[in-house]
Amino acid sequence: MTETGVVIVGAGQAGCSAAVKLRNLGYDKPITLIGEEPHPPYQRPPLSKAYLLGEMSRERLFLRPESYYAEHNISLRLGAEVSELSAKDRTLVCGGETLSFEHVILTTGSTPRRLPEAIGGTLSGTHTIRGISDIDAIAPEFDSGRRLVIIGGGYIGLEVAAVAAKLELEVTLIEAAPRILQRVAAPETADFFRDLHQSKGVRILENTQLARVTGTEKVEGVELANGEEIPADFVVFGIGITPNTKLAEQAGLEVLNGIVTDNKGRTSDPRIWAAGDCATLPFKGTQIRLESVGNAINQAEIIAANIAGTETVYEPKPWFWSDQYDVKLQIAGLNAGYDQTISREGTNGVLSIWYYRDNALIAVDAMNDPRTYMVAKRLIESGKSPTPEVIRNPETDLKALLKA
Ligand code: FAD
Repeated sequence: MTETGVVIVGAGQAGCSAAVKLRNLGYDKPITLIGEEPHPPYQRPPLSKAYLLGEMSRERLFLRPESYYAEHNISLRLGAEVSELSAKDRTLVCGGETLSFEHVILTTGSTPRRLPEAIGGTLSGTHTIRGISDIDAIAPEFDSGRRLVIIGGGYIGLEVAAVAAKLELEVTLIEAAPRILQRVAAPETADFFRDLHQSKGVRILENTQLARVTGTEKVEGVELANGEEIPADFVVFGIGITPNTKLAEQAGLEVLNGIVTDNKGRTSDPRIWAAGDCATLPFKGTQIRLESVGNAINQAEIIAANIAGTETVYEPKPWFWSDQYDVKLQIAGLNAGYDQTISREGTNGVLSIWYYRDNALIAVDAMNDPRTYMVAKRLIESGKSPTPEVIRNPETDLKALLKA
């Protein structure tokens, strides 16, 4: 059996952040970082943006040069899946080898959902977007004039639509909910992006139920519940993700739509920690999952600090972004449970949507408005809440609110 200090399962955004932070904090025991993908840890956001568009090289996706890991005495095992985890024995199995651990950090990420096989969800020409290999598979499909149907009007579906429209494909996006971005944004933000996509020629069908993806071996199109058939050369699913919790379940850890962690990143076993997309964490009295780069990094770094000997509490400060065409959307805070929104419009297509719950500011969507985003982020993080009336007033100097 190989003796080792910290084993990190999942060499993605959170796993890499934990390993780097441990070394930066002077942790001097062995660190093993295990990933089932063949690539060194990389960032995923460009996969549905610049990388898919062909405007970014693969090397620029990597979070660290490959040499970094050996130089910092981090044993990086790629193309290696951890198949078993025992909390009781403090061991795990990777490629037939048993490793012991003092601490293990689960950073296993998530798996994109597909439609069921019975309604064509696994036909050739159907795709999900999670990793470099998905882009390698889908990139040859992105030729001008080809017909793409996207299922799901969340951020990933919309970003793929933007890339496809830019490359002059014929794009139809189908959303089952009454509107795009229903789960994550206010109607005003959805209206902004619907208008943007439609102005670029994307056909958006909301409140539209899918019957099945058609084709025998290769996808030929989609059939809607109302009987309409939309021909397609390929189909992309952007219908959400499922957290990868198999190992945690096997180890008997508490799992509830993600591996349950406390405010230090600990699971129900004190030697096992979890971070990133696979984990749920306490936030304002509930247990939530935050599917974002910012959360993956921050939660992983807090865990590293705790393993390195400090008792550090994680206080999430959610933020997110999305790039579509030449629009950058930046989101500060979390809008869950909002009961009021205020729109602030500026010149040159600048728009921000302010979310309130019980008259307290909880989140802001800023479109092409980095200044407003920065102010809003600082207001929310410091618990300051200008009244809706103040925000509604176009004369309000937002920056001055920080000093109030
Ligand atoms: P990941 O980065 O997914 O890493 C998990 C790794 O664990 C994977 O490599 C997986 O193969 C590996 N693994 C799983 N099980 C095992 C096992 N048993 N053994 C070994 N390895 C295993 N967030 C934003 O904030 N802004 C954005 O604009 C944005 N855009 C996105 C666009 C796309 C296309 C995608 C897919 C995600 C985007 N996200 C964005 C979300 C963000 O990338 C994720 O929240 C983040 O990557 C989560 O990090 P993670 O470490 O939890 O998971």
